[in-house]
Amino acid sequence: MYKDKINAYFEEHRQEILDDIMTLCRIRSVREAAQENMPFGPGPKAALDAAIEMSEKMGFKVRNIDNYVATVDINDKENQLAILAHLDVVHEGKGWTVCEPYAPVVKGDRIYGRGTADDKGPAVVSLWALKAVKDLGIELNKNARIILGTAEETGSEDLAYYSKIEAYPPMSFSPDSSFPVTNIEKGGFGPTFTAKWDECKALPRVIAVKGGTAGNIVCQECFFEIEGMTKEEVEKYLTIEDVKFTASENNGIVHVDVVGQSAHASTPHLGVNSITASLAVLSKMPMAESKGFKTLQGLSALIPHGDYLGAALGVKQEDELSGPLTLNLGIFEYTVNGLSGKIDSRTPICANEDNMSNIVNAKMNEIGIELNTTKMRKPHHTPAESEFIKVLNGAYEEYTGNEGYCVAIGGGTYVHNIEGGVAFGCSMPGTENNMHGPDESAVIEELMVSGKMFADIIIRLCK
Ligand SMILES: [Zn+2]
Repeated sequence: MYKDKINAYFEEHRQEILDDIMTLCRIRSVREAAQENMPFGPGPKAALDAAIEMSEKMGFKVRNIDNYVATVDINDKENQLAILAHLDVVHEGKGWTVCEPYAPVVKGDRIYGRGTADDKGPAVVSLWALKAVKDLGIELNKNARIILGTAEETGSEDLAYYSKIEAYPPMSFSPDSSFPVTNIEKGGFGPTFTAKWDECKALPRVIAVKGGTAGNIVCQECFFEIEGMTKEEVEKYLTIEDVKFTASENNGIVHVDVVGQSAHASTPHLGVNSITASLAVLSKMPMAESKGFKTLQGLSALIPHGDYLGAALGVKQEDELSGPLTLNLGIFEYTVNGLSGKIDSRTPICANEDNMSNIVNAKMNEIGIELNTTKMRKPHHTPAESEFIKVLNGAYEEYTGNEGYCVAIGGGTYVHNIEGGVAFGCSMPGTENNMHGPDESAVIEELMVSGKMFADIIIRLCK
């Protein structure tokens, strides 16, 4: 009903929208140490100030909640809908070729720069959606609120703070992902683990294994070191598909660099884990008997290379709604007197302490490894049949001509802890935005159509 008016409004304001995105993307809002009135450092605070100024200029009532988040309301009626976008960005990293990370440019059909897709572009089009509804003079009976956060990339302490002060409306979505609707986020289990033993000097022996920087990444590179075998003897064991081993010998120690393929822990099938590959080849080598080596072999048997579904651990499971459990050994270190590491498992709705974490704990204990916790992170689920999701997918179909549907993911989004929340937008299925990487970009038309949809959704839900 309002589609033509909304379309015309966005086309008319296209340049202003792009200018606003650029204004926010020029601010390096990477989290740093807290300072007075800057819980996440000066960058996120500067981005929040700029977005507040922008929202006030649009004519909205804005509330800065202690520099953690700002709320932007279209009216002072009962809250019905929240749109959650964030103004912090991940570190710029290296390798930018199209522009400097904080000097955004429009090139072809895209806008490039850190934050253009994740999540300043979506934040700006959300504000413009609210402004479109106001400027078109459409009366609402309920309030739509935009919540602008400043710490999504670093654990969402901003929303934790917000939720102590204000409630969430019954419906909320976060344009911090892709279309159509993400309504299920798996739960998780991410314990660290340790084992200790007395050093055993019998040869041959494993002296070191080390790899991984984060539990949630499939480890690309690691190394191990062996004493008491020649390089040639070791090399006989170094054959695993898609894994590159490079051995060198120095002072009687064979050092082996291992390269697999990194991937996110929620999609382990896309990676090749260099840690599990190392444990697999080491397990087969003729080492002298020792508690340490036995533990290493035991661990490799529980998490064999290529088993990212938890089969050997006895926790492989899946349900129709959320898909299979995944499991990643993301960090690992082995020394002559102990080992430590971190697992990251993404668990379907059907998983619980009894059929998942307690089993992992028991199996690991059997081989002498202690976990720091058996506590799991709850999954998030907003039913696909809800009126809210029907409205979102309906708008998506109307404005894009594509079919709306719901997806389940292994990662957690901004709405993981918000009842009734989903992720919705702003990139179209299949579009690559290089979020978190160099040359991050957003397709301008995708941002524009997102803004249009959001305006329509605000009207439908709050009228
Ligand atoms: Zn984001």
